[in-house]
Amino acid sequence: MRIESIKSLVEMANAKKTKVGNIVSEMQAEKEGVSIDVVLDRMDSYYQVMKESVENGIKADFDFQTGLQNDIVSVSDKYFNSKKTILGANLGKLITSAMAVSGYNASMGRIMAAPTAGSCGIMPAVLTFCEDNGAKRSDIVLSMFTAAGFADIIAELATFAGSEGGCQAECGSASAMASASMAEILGGTPDECAHAFALTLSTILGLICDPIAGYVEVPCMNKNILGAVHAATFAELSLAGVKSIIPSDEVVLAMKDVGSKMHENFKETSLGGLATTPTGLEIKERLLNKK
Ligand code: SF4
Repeated sequence: MRIESIKSLVEMANAKKTKVGNIVSEMQAEKEGVSIDVVLDRMDSYYQVMKESVENGIKADFDFQTGLQNDIVSVSDKYFNSKKTILGANLGKLITSAMAVSGYNASMGRIMAAPTAGSCGIMPAVLTFCEDNGAKRSDIVLSMFTAAGFADIIAELATFAGSEGGCQAECGSASAMASASMAEILGGTPDECAHAFALTLSTILGLICDPIAGYVEVPCMNKNILGAVHAATFAELSLAGVKSIIPSDEVVLAMKDVGSKMHENFKETSLGGLATTPTGLEIKERLLNKK
């Protein structure tokens, strides 16, 4: 059986009075002809990679290709563990984790691309944030199937590639997936998970892809922070009862529309946005001369 729409997934979960994660994991097991434990164990191993990328990313000594702010993660970690912060250590950990995993990817560390390497900090930051705040690992793993099921529709109707749809397709998709996961982990209904997904994606439409000198470092690490905080915000808001006026499947189509009309200069070509600012070009020139 294939996933036809986010709406249909939600309807199936509602009809069976279960979580979307259960529906998607059962579909996957059936598709592969294996037991449910096999797919759950595999997803658990993916979560383990995510967890390790957060831990390793926070500890890592970065040596970025661009040579730009190698201490960005340690500076953030130290700050949010100090008494100065208004946001607090909890939200600070979410922020630091997202940039740590993204930086770890830029330094060739082992990450889980969910859905892409460029956006790899968002899901791990949000999921470990839930675990840090008391969520059960089994609920987290199950929620990853919810994210995967919803993401299937993005793959079907739109794209995850920054080169095709801009950063909305990479970090926007990751953020929406993480939001749906978090909503489910926090006890949200299938409808609330779909609202979390739609609210998150709909408010990140149009995000361009403009990596400086073509490296997935700046502004990518910061966009991972945006995606993680954004996801957590709308996960909680969906549980509060805030609803997306536009249904999730239509938001995915809107993302495709925006991506197809986005200028090529903003699709991973480094020909626009921050990449072509005087400083962005200066950095590119310096790196070219270094080679
Ligand atoms: S800005 Fe471009 S390269 Fe960087 S994370 Fe977004 S889509 Fe990927």
